[in-house]
Amino acid sequence: MDTETPTHCPYCALQCGMTLRPVAGAPVAEVVERTGFPVNRGALCGKGRTAPAVLSSAVRLTGPLVRNAVSGVLEPAGWDEALGRIADALRATRAAHGADAVGVFGGGSLTNEKAYLLGKFARVALGTSQIDYNGRFCMSSAAAAHQRAFGLDRGLPFPLEDIPRTGCVILVGSNPAETMPPALRYFTELRANGGKLIVIDPRRTRTAEQADLHLAPRPGTDLALALGMLHLVVAQGRLDEEFVAARTSGWEDARAGVMAHWPEQVERITGVSVPQLREAVAMFCDADSGMVLTARGPEQQAKGTDTVGAWINFCLATGRAGRPLSGYGCLTGQGNGQGGREHGQKADQLPGYRKLTDPAARQHVAGVWGVDPDALPGPGRSAYELLDALGGDVRALLVMGSNPVVSAPRAGHVEERLKSLDFLAVADVVLSETAALADVVLPVTQWAEETGTMTNLEGRVLLRRKAVTAPEGVRSDLEVMHGLAALLGHGKGFPTDPEEVFEELRRASAGGAADYSGITYARIAAEDGVFWPCPGEVPGSVGPDPEKAGPEPEKTGPGPERCGPDTAEAGQVPAGAVHPGTPRLFLDRFATEDGRARFVAVTHRPPAEETDEVYPVVLTTGRVVAHYQSGAQTRRVAELNAAAPGSFVELHPRLAERIGVAEGEPVAVTSRRGRAVAPARITASIRQDTVFMPFHWAGEGRANSLTNPALDPVSRMPEFKVCAVRVEAGDGRSAGAGD
Ligand code: SF4
Repeated sequence: MDTETPTHCPYCALQCGMTLRPVAGAPVAEVVERTGFPVNRGALCGKGRTAPAVLSSAVRLTGPLVRNAVSGVLEPAGWDEALGRIADALRATRAAHGADAVGVFGGGSLTNEKAYLLGKFARVALGTSQIDYNGRFCMSSAAAAHQRAFGLDRGLPFPLEDIPRTGCVILVGSNPAETMPPALRYFTELRANGGKLIVIDPRRTRTAEQADLHLAPRPGTDLALALGMLHLVVAQGRLDEEFVAARTSGWEDARAGVMAHWPEQVERITGVSVPQLREAVAMFCDADSGMVLTARGPEQQAKGTDTVGAWINFCLATGRAGRPLSGYGCLTGQGNGQGGREHGQKADQLPGYRKLTDPAARQHVAGVWGVDPDALPGPGRSAYELLDALGGDVRALLVMGSNPVVSAPRAGHVEERLKSLDFLAVADVVLSETAALADVVLPVTQWAEETGTMTNLEGRVLLRRKAVTAPEGVRSDLEVMHGLAALLGHGKGFPTDPEEVFEELRRASAGGAADYSGITYARIAAEDGVFWPCPGEVPGSVGPDPEKAGPEPEKTGPGPERCGPDTAEAGQVPAGAVHPGTPRLFLDRFATEDGRARFVAVTHRPPAEETDEVYPVVLTTGRVVAHYQSGAQTRRVAELNAAAPGSFVELHPRLAERIGVAEGEPVAVTSRRGRAVAPARITASIRQDTVFMPFHWAGEGRANSLTNPALDPVSRMPEFKVCAVRVEAGDGRSAGAGD
């Protein structure tokens, strides 16, 4: 590396722009501000600033590891031996138990190219339906609700730059001050411009402290809160009847559920007083425009899809959707949480956000892949269901870019399932807790050592550029898939060059909901990212094999004329002109068949697990600013570790007093699934009936030892955000809260 390289942070979905600069005499680069990139304008959080530390070979895997069958120890091995062991094991498993006995588990931080090729690898090279990824744990409920209401799932239907210019924002279960600090300025600017910020969160977070109004409902009751607020909208005559009549369908069905949720009843369910509900409704409706933005709080519930649906209903009823500076959006979490859910590593999906069950979609993608559509497997299991099946009918697993031993719900059980496999292979940058269980571990390149595209939370497709040389002995995930596919008899169709993979992805996504066909590496570099959908001509597009060709593939997505993108930017693209991309969706019509957004009738229901005499306290989980996801990378950065060295239990002073613990003393938290012990962090900013634990750590303080894998029936999202626990002094001095 001898020049400065503009690129992006390896972590969250904001995908902050940064520049990497060589450091004389040092093996890794330093981060410098990239003020010209519009999303973060140079600002970075501590994770982004310190990201080069994970490039150092001191914390890296720099050669494959293979488990010695006699000693049981992971030992260094060559690439040929490691890949050969994996191919032999996968082949043997398939021969003995069938193709679906081999599973693949991907990640929401993989580049678009990797996510795309992983889906193809599973379905073409392995012939298995058993593929899903950890993004199922992150954004799937919002994605499902988006699809249901708007016919299209893109986290934000507008760029972040619109936030400071709207009238009022309701942030539901989102804490950008901790999860993506550079995004906080959009809300600060909103307030500086005279706009209002309402934060809904059981904890008085650093984000909530900046709000004009903070509502603190009981965890798991946000659905009732949304219904109660919508009830008030109707009762106070603030329904936007003109918008509802012109741009939506299904209001009458949804209305019945809304009107059944009286404010006083909602106060009893949520703990939010009727005057506060009224204040929130007045604040939102008095503004001339508004947005509702959700994050993991309402989404990571066994009713997450309906909860998000209730907030979408609220937006539609108030006319705050499909209009400039208004709408519903989801603040996606993982680095490629958006792109990672579009191109085929989901259990039910083909590239371009196509459905695996759609014959036309199968025809199109099979044509690009040069295979028979009938040879493509059908949908597989969702992430937790796949992990739960390990050691049963799924006997071997390949993991890429994920650490489920820390990040999965009911993690102790998942760890046992992983141990029960006949064979486990993990490709990772470091020896994560999951990699430590593997039979073969493959060391792979990361972030600044490779090129690839990411799609940030706005739907902006970005280019991460290779800036440094990877340690010797490390290969890219694309090279891993290429090598394994070749050993499994698929020597063609798995390129190792990311741009070549992207060109294929463009063809595969053409005409789909997430259409990338008009996006190129050169355009992304020149334009600071391109928003999808962006249709275009793809050179070398071969289309389906005419021998197997059926009807023309049906459009499953918006295209410029289908979802009514920003007409000034995309809706009136002259024939032959380059499509500019679509920063703003739905301004003319939604991406449904009739162009109308759909109200969905939803009603409140309690969490899958309610508190009782034995487990009288609610546990909710989340993140801290210093760490990303399972912490596999950030826990290896000294500065971040010093700032947040381990797990903790946040609890109210009254609860602490009741169980007899002081600040820093160990607290034991027990659920029906397990036990965790971590130091007390006592604060009045949390409800008295609730404790909070961050989920970044393994071992004794692992929050996910406790969490409930109850699944949302639509999205298959587990209920990370609420479960019933007993809380007691970790040294056994107390009998537990509620006793
Ligand atoms: Fe930006 Fe997220 Fe990286 Fe922090 S972790 S620098 S907020 S992309």
